Amino acid sequence: MRSYRGRIAPSPTGLLHVGHARTFWTAYSRAREAGGTLVLRNEDLDPQRSKADLVDAMLADLKWLGIHWPEGPDVGGTFGPYSQSERHSHYLHAWKQLLDRGFIYPCTCSRRELSGIAQAPHESAGEGRGRLRYEGDEGPMYPGTCRPNCRPGAGAVILSKQYESPAGVNWRFRVPDGEAVTFEDGHFGPRRFVAGEDFGDFPVWRRDDVPAYQLAVVADDEAMRITEVVRGADLLLSTARQILLYNALGWSPPAWYHCALVVDERGERLAKRHDALAIRTLRELGKTPGVVLGIC
Ligand code: GLU
Repeated sequence: MRSYRGRIAPSPTGLLHVGHARTFWTAYSRAREAGGTLVLRNEDLDPQRSKADLVDAMLADLKWLGIHWPEGPDVGGTFGPYSQSERHSHYLHAWKQLLDRGFIYPCTCSRRELSGIAQAPHESAGEGRGRLRYEGDEGPMYPGTCRPNCRPGAGAVILSKQYESPAGVNWRFRVPDGEAVTFEDGHFGPRRFVAGEDFGDFPVWRRDDVPAYQLAVVADDEAMRITEVVRGADLLLSTARQILLYNALGWSPPAWYHCALVVDERGERLAKRHDALAIRTLRELGKTPGVVLGIC
């Protein structure tokens, strides 16, 4: 059996809050209990939203909580670099494989067209494409406007000749409509999502040459030999998308463990805008790591 390798993968787009603290503590504890290794990956994928000072803040807050990682951007390691902004070539390789195998297609829908869709949730999005539906976590389901009419994979050779790089157009993964994606979650038990019903064709690359989260995280977890992914329950549906990417790329998915989300007093899940519940704020108020983690 492969030895346990877990990871925590914060994005430096805001201060980490109590919800992150608890999820990352669970990831740390599971790696420690398994006698395994914990990787810290800095998910600074999006250059517009990621901030260098927030990378420093997140590392400092995690250390203050008592979380340690033997591999990460600050300590190095065998599977580095550990910042997504430095891993472009890994993502390009995965994009090329998906292209050659016929799993992705270019999408020219503008953000405005798609947000127009968001404003008209009950209207039909075109004959033959089904009615607009919502995905649990990502707003309206892509209506399939740019999806090729030919059977999956049929146009792969033409697209592979036409595109040497992904930049300049958005790329989407074509989901196998009606196919059930099932997995066993270490916390929530068996999960089942249906492609084309619970989620639609999802982005893998942005026209401004930024890989999408789904593609980057799968390429990284594979390259970093992660055996179990521990993260928040808001990403359960993304796990189904990612399993399709693993299958398409011919890789074996890791085990999954999703943590229950921490909610605020109104029952809404915490977001990075909840500054009152930022680890940083609680630290400054003199709270201990145990109080922030809810363990004392
Ligand atoms: N970077 C993501 C976030 O901060 C988490 C990604 C993951 O754990 O797969 O929400």
